[in-house]
Amino acid sequence: MKRTSVGDIKNLEGKEVELAGWVHARRDHGKIIFIDLRDRTGLVQIVFTPAVAGAVDLRLEYLIRVSGLVKKRPDSMVNDKLPNGAYEVEAKTLEIMNASEATPIPVDSDGYDINEESRMKYRYLDLRRERMQRNIRLRHEVSQFMRSYLTERGFWEIETPMLTKSTPEGARDFLVPSRLQPGKFYALPQSPQQYKQLLMVAGFEKYFQIARCFRDEDPRADRAYGEFTQLDLEMSFVTQEDILALAEDLFTKLVEKVFPDKHISQSPWPRISHKEAKAKYGSDKPDLRKEKNNPDELAFAWVVDFPLFTEQSEEDFFHGSGSAKFAPSHHMFTAPHPDDIPLLDTDPTKVRGLQHDLVLNGYEVGGGSIRIHERDIQEKIFNLIGFDEHQKGEFTHMLEAFTYGVPPHGGIAPGLDRFLFAVLGEKSIREVMAFPASAGGQISVMDAPSDVDPKQLNELGLDIKKK
Ligand code: ASP
Repeated sequence: MKRTSVGDIKNLEGKEVELAGWVHARRDHGKIIFIDLRDRTGLVQIVFTPAVAGAVDLRLEYLIRVSGLVKKRPDSMVNDKLPNGAYEVEAKTLEIMNASEATPIPVDSDGYDINEESRMKYRYLDLRRERMQRNIRLRHEVSQFMRSYLTERGFWEIETPMLTKSTPEGARDFLVPSRLQPGKFYALPQSPQQYKQLLMVAGFEKYFQIARCFRDEDPRADRAYGEFTQLDLEMSFVTQEDILALAEDLFTKLVEKVFPDKHISQSPWPRISHKEAKAKYGSDKPDLRKEKNNPDELAFAWVVDFPLFTEQSEEDFFHGSGSAKFAPSHHMFTAPHPDDIPLLDTDPTKVRGLQHDLVLNGYEVGGGSIRIHERDIQEKIFNLIGFDEHQKGEFTHMLEAFTYGVPPHGGIAPGLDRFLFAVLGEKSIREVMAFPASAGGQISVMDAPSDVDPKQLNELGLDIKKK
C-alpha cells in the first residue's frame, strides 16, 4: 500500500490507509491505547484495540508504520483546533520501524524554554517540533516564490564561487588556506557583490542567486554568526526606481502568497530619506508599525538618499588604510548621486549615494545600490577611502573590467533569514535556520570547528602557534 500523509486523512473517510511517522503522544486507557502519530504534515489520533499487537510497547518518538481505517470521530469528540480533529484511524496493523531512546529534549512544545545549548546539540530532534517544521517549510516556500517570481521576469540564477577573494563589505573575512599555492588564502565571500557586477559586464542583464554570505562578526538577535543567506540580485540598464519597484512588487506578492494572514500597513511603501529617518525616528531603520504589538502587521519602508560616506571609525579598519577620513556607507561600489559628483573633489561628506535600504518592522532586511560603472569614479572612491596602491591592486580586475563597455547596473540583496525572522516575529534569527551556529560560533550538532589532523596542516604548510 502506498504511504498516506497525515495531512490527507481528512479526505479519506472510510478508506484503509497506511501511515508512517513518529509517536507524538500516547494515552493508555487500559484496553484501548491512543497514539498521536506525527509526520511533517501534522498529527492524527490512532486507536489501538487489544486486537493489534505491540501497541503497549510504544514510547514517545518511536517511528511506526500503521495501517487502519479512517473514521469520523463522534461529534462530541471533534477537536476543532486540529486539522485532523474530526478524524481518527482505527489501527489494523502496527510495525515498529525504529525505536527511540527517551529524547534529551521534549519535541512537543514550542521549545522557547529549553536551553539553547541542548537545542543546538540535538538540533535534529529540536527541528521535529511543529514550530521549527513550520519555519523551515516557510523558508522553503519563500525561496521557491523568489525563484519563480524572478524566473518569470527574465532573471537567470547564476552561481558564483565560494572559494574566492575577500569582498570588502565591512566585516572580517573567513580565510581558507590554499594547498596548491601554499601560503595563499581564499576568502569566503561576504557577498557575491563583485561577481554579480562582473556578470553585468558579461552581459547577463538580470541575475539572481539565493546566495550564502560569510562574515566573521559577532552575532545579534537579527544576525547569526558566520553565515547567512541573501536573495542577491542585479540588473543592467536600470535606474534606482526600477530596483525599488521590482523589490516592492516581489515582497508584496510574496506576502500575499506565503503569509496571507499578514497585512502590509502601507502601500506603496513609504520612502524616507536617511536624514529624515534620523531626525524623525532617531534610526536609519525605523519601525513604522502602527501597533507594535500586532504580530500580523508588516511595515515595509525604503530608506534612500544616504550620504555616500560616513566618517571612518576603528571598525572600518578593513575598508581602508585606517588613515583616511571616509568609509563607504554601503560599500565602495555604490554610485554617487550624479548631481553630487563635483562634490567628490570639494566636500565628499555632502555627496549622496544611490543607496537603498529595505526596512521591515524596524529591521534592515536588505540593502543595495546603483553601482559605479566608470573607472575614474571608482578610482576616486578608492582614494577617498584611503586605499593605498596595494589595496587598489586588489581591485584591478574591477577597474580593468570597467574599461570594456560596461552597462549601467544596480541591485539589491534582501536577507532571507532576516526577512523570515522579521515576518515571523521570532526571538532570534537562529529560529529560521536549520543548522545555525550558536552565539559562540559552534555548530554543536557536528562539533565544529574542530582540530584537524597534523597531516592536513602539513599539506597546507601551516603551523599552529601555541598560545
Ligand atoms: N552586496 C550588498 C550586501 O551584501 C548588497 C548589494 O549592494 O546588492 O549588502
